[in-house]
Amino acid sequence: MQDCIFCKIINREIPAEIVYETDSVLVFKDIRPAAPVHLLLIPKKHIPTFFDLEPADAALMGELQMAATEVARRLGLQNGFRLVSNTGRDAGQLVFHIHYHLLAGRELKWPPG
Ligand code: 5GP
Ligand code: ZN
Repeated sequence: MQDCIFCKIINREIPAEIVYETDSVLVFKDIRPAAPVHLLLIPKKHIPTFFDLEPADAALMGELQMAATEVARRLGLQNGFRLVSNTGRDAGQLVFHIHYHLLAGRELKWPPG
């Protein structure tokens, strides 16, 4: 997708601090971290929101969640982490390429507000 900032990161058209990559997913640091560890996990396939997912995307979304497990293991986040995804206006979604935020490194309040 031409005008998608996350697709540009995937294509190395804009820089990002990439921490993990497979054929199908990419994990990089959020540019405005809300916690000591704040990563974004994205599929390399451009899918705008959870409303756009199709059954054929199930394995890809599974890989995306497994990337969270793998990264958490590698970074030693045994104290815990939070995986969240904002979908649509009410959740404050800003970038319309599906992503999970992985937050860790401090006690995380619940509910987030
Ligand atoms: P959301 O769409 O869930 O509200 O959040 C999008 C996230 O993407 C924000 O936390 C924001 O800081 C992050 N973000 C936006 N543009 C960039 C960018 O160019 N590079 C990186 N690394 N993160 C970005
Ligand atoms: Zn995209």
